[in-house]
Amino acid sequence: MAEIDYSKRSFNYYPTNAIVFSKCIDGRWTKPEVTGDFNFSLHCFAGIFHYAPSCFEGMKAYRGADGRVRLFRPDENAKRMQSSANYLDMPAPTMEMFIDMCVMCVQENWDYIPSYESGASLYLRPVLFGINPQLGIKSAKDVMFAVMSSAVGTYSGGKSLMPVTAVISRNYDRAATYGSGGYKLGANYAQSLHAYNLAHRMGYKELLFLDSATHSHIEEFGSSNFFAIKHGCYITPNSPSVLPSITNKSLRKVAEEFGLKVERRTIFIDELETFEEVNSCGTAVVITPISRIDDKVTLESGTITREYRYGEEAGPISTKLYNRIVGIQKGLEEDTYGWCMFVNDPK
Ligand SMILES: *Cc1c(COP(=O)(O)O)cnc(C)c1O
Repeated sequence: MAEIDYSKRSFNYYPTNAIVFSKCIDGRWTKPEVTGDFNFSLHCFAGIFHYAPSCFEGMKAYRGADGRVRLFRPDENAKRMQSSANYLDMPAPTMEMFIDMCVMCVQENWDYIPSYESGASLYLRPVLFGINPQLGIKSAKDVMFAVMSSAVGTYSGGKSLMPVTAVISRNYDRAATYGSGGYKLGANYAQSLHAYNLAHRMGYKELLFLDSATHSHIEEFGSSNFFAIKHGCYITPNSPSVLPSITNKSLRKVAEEFGLKVERRTIFIDELETFEEVNSCGTAVVITPISRIDDKVTLESGTITREYRYGEEAGPISTKLYNRIVGIQKGLEEDTYGWCMFVNDPK
């Protein structure tokens, strides 16, 4: 088979072989099933179609330089899905079930895992949503848990560590101060899509959200966390309405390893001017450097009121952090923390 050019794929859906699913009905999970049928048959009154009882996860299966396949901290994804489901007051898979079904999904789609040389990976998308018929305003009693996958290239569709531009969202919020921002819900994306589309139409790749109460400090990008480097410090926002990124959590450890001071604190917009390096981070984007952040009164406005520039190349510290984290994920660097879980070839 000819080698696929994953660089053009960016972060888009491409079919694979199979998905894995299980349903929780009246508090009991069905035995996980593998199917090549990618269509679900659902009741039209299923909660998912009405009140968005839905959460998801995102992880990658990486093919290492040694040819072995690794998952990165899947226990953290399992815990976060439980936390999201708990917020929605609906059943969640146990950690064991979550990880087992992710492993099954990787094994069932083994031939779709990109080669090490391609730099691409098999993205796993676990989803959990309400399926029992309901009209009344209630949390879902019965749920479907499914793990699906798609081979992905880099998020930007270009090479790794290629800087992208961002714009501050002054007139649209991603998450309310005491809202659902700290949970990985589809609803958070529904809420931010309109603003995201506006930013894209204006030519920006990323959208930087502020805290909704005061619009004075940085929260995160639409689908990834924010971190900056300044005077040997790794600085990232500390807010309950920011999604607790596993990549960010891991990078904080790696930063300490490199002798950087780690600060999780409020970052006021004005401080953007003082940062040496600014990045977005997450499973999908890995570390994506930000070359420029524009500020505008509204996203719709054509006038830029202020701009912050960080250069057209990835910063030296961000590059070091990138190499270490990707090195661990791909088996090039010692996995000091035991973050990787191996998946065996099913054949
Ligand atoms: C998933 C997600 C992230 C990144 O989290 P990782 O665990 O690092 O993949 C960041 N922000 C938002 C809003 C997300 O949904």
